[in-house]
Amino acid sequence: MSNGNSLRAVLEQLFSASFEPVIATSGDNHIIVANGAFFDLVRMDIDELTGEDLLNILKLKSLVDPIEEALISRRVFAQEVSVTIDDQNEVQLQLRVSQLPEGERLWVLNPKSKYDRSRDAQFDRLTGLPSQFLFDDRAEQAVITANRHNKSIALLRMGIDHFNRINEGLGHKHGDEVLKEIASRLQHTIRNSDTVARLGGDQFGFIMAISAIDDSILVAEKVLEAVNEPIIIDGHTITLTASIGITLYPDDGKEMSVLLQHAESAMRHVKSIGGHNFQFFAAEMDQRARARIQLENRMRQALTNNEFVLYYQPKVDIESNSIVGAEALIRWNDPEKGMISPVEFIPVAEESGLIVPIGKWVLEEACRQNKIWIDAGLPTVKVSINMAAPQFRDRNIVEQVREVIEKSGLPPKYMEIEITESMLVGDIETVIEKLHGLRDMGLDIAIDDFGTGYSSLSYLSRFPITTLKIDRAFVHDLESNKNTAEIARAIIALSQGLELEVVAEGAENAAHIDFLKEQGCNTVQGFFYSRPVTAEAFAELLKAGVISGDDVS
Ligand code: C2E
Ligand code: MG
Ligand code: MG
Repeated sequence: MSNGNSLRAVLEQLFSASFEPVIATSGDNHIIVANGAFFDLVRMDIDELTGEDLLNILKLKSLVDPIEEALISRRVFAQEVSVTIDDQNEVQLQLRVSQLPEGERLWVLNPKSKYDRSRDAQFDRLTGLPSQFLFDDRAEQAVITANRHNKSIALLRMGIDHFNRINEGLGHKHGDEVLKEIASRLQHTIRNSDTVARLGGDQFGFIMAISAIDDSILVAEKVLEAVNEPIIIDGHTITLTASIGITLYPDDGKEMSVLLQHAESAMRHVKSIGGHNFQFFAAEMDQRARARIQLENRMRQALTNNEFVLYYQPKVDIESNSIVGAEALIRWNDPEKGMISPVEFIPVAEESGLIVPIGKWVLEEACRQNKIWIDAGLPTVKVSINMAAPQFRDRNIVEQVREVIEKSGLPPKYMEIEITESMLVGDIETVIEKLHGLRDMGLDIAIDDFGTGYSSLSYLSRFPITTLKIDRAFVHDLESNKNTAEIARAIIALSQGLELEVVAEGAENAAHIDFLKEQGCNTVQGFFYSRPVTAEAFAELLKAGVISGDDVS
């Protein structure tokens, strides 16, 4: 062989990238080089095999002539054969032999049982990338190769941040287009010997042999950059970010299934701290992931066991001290842990999607309770509920709300929905349509925590909203921070300009009340008047009708 060494180098590279057993032989079928998958198939060592007659090893001497015949007439030889491994296991193989330019031969063996899956199972239909099935297989293969060469493997799991917003906002057709574009970019970020696969939904996996940890960082950075390039789909420009979890073999674990979980924990960790980054797996993440799963399961049970309760915090008119409304705030009365704050479980409920049934319960319960107060002849008030982003994103949200309200018998004018600024982004037209749907039903819409998000002020007038709620941070620091006072002032002025109601949250003392009164914000919700209280206690407040405030700070 004239060019033996360079051919050998090229083949070795190609071969190690392949999960199928592949062998190169001389023109008389003696092994020059073979890949890991082949050694694993025949359970022999590289030294035992180099230079040996391949057909001897496979005990397929009867094929010498048919193969010659095919190759001489420039055909690829293909035939199903049966080979006995270790004198006991018989495997069915699809053998293909073709001629290389300098007279050498390329042999490919597909073990029928393991690999004879349809192309559909191996490749993702939408993106053409390897599927989870093939990914698992290549991961196993990579481990075998890494062990043999004493190398490490990096396993990356990538998820697109908030991808459901694309599907829900622009529809699945555009969602698919985005995934295809991302897939093709990802393919260009890796070496040919590495694997990138679609693991379902917006999740992608990478397997790569690495000589140093830095190799995986480089790839992670490239991937983040590739995802972040703006995508133009049907006239919409979309800028996405991704979160990546990285785990290393053998440092982080020896079993692929465990490593895959670790990569996922690390990815989730990145998402939980804002996304658009990568992170290596750390043991605490595993614990955190477990705790999270436990919390999710407990929440699911809490829903069936009726462990959630609503507290009500009055909104008070500061001129007359009369109660003009209430916000319903959820608490979890856990039989073991006692009362749990929404701050602890709402974020996890949002991430896991559990917020959808929980949010529906909140709406039902707030309607039911308010109807009871009205029927009991108490002064009527509007009760507001908090709607989380995943609830609002649902295409049928307006219908769902309508159904619940109709069933409860509560006149809709006694219900208000609080949403946040972050829910006003994305597909603006759809957002406006939903808000109109809710308004047409007779509901009020408040923007909660106003001033903390980054809604564009020029857009604000396009949304059919009724109320701005000043975030409590701007009320809390009034005395100590001149800037926050300015922000509170600006929000009050803005609401007056747009003819919106304005409610200040978090008023705790007389100084807060004085400032708000001066600025013309007459409705206040804060500990100064009352903390959130049980339905029974709130009924008592309603009966009294007025609350005289009390400094708490
Ligand atoms: P939020 O909607 O902005 O509710 C106001 C929060 O501020 C409540 O906390 C309330 O107790 C607190 N607050 C009111 N006045 C004062 C004050 O003067 N000083 C201080 N320090 N705090 C005051 P809470 O009940 O712990 O709820 C926290 C957040 O949890 C809510 O903020 C809301 O984002 C979320 N949340 C509560 N209930 C629900 C729910 O049913 N569904 C959803 N999706 N989120 C909820
Ligand atoms: Mg609220
Ligand atoms: Mg708020």
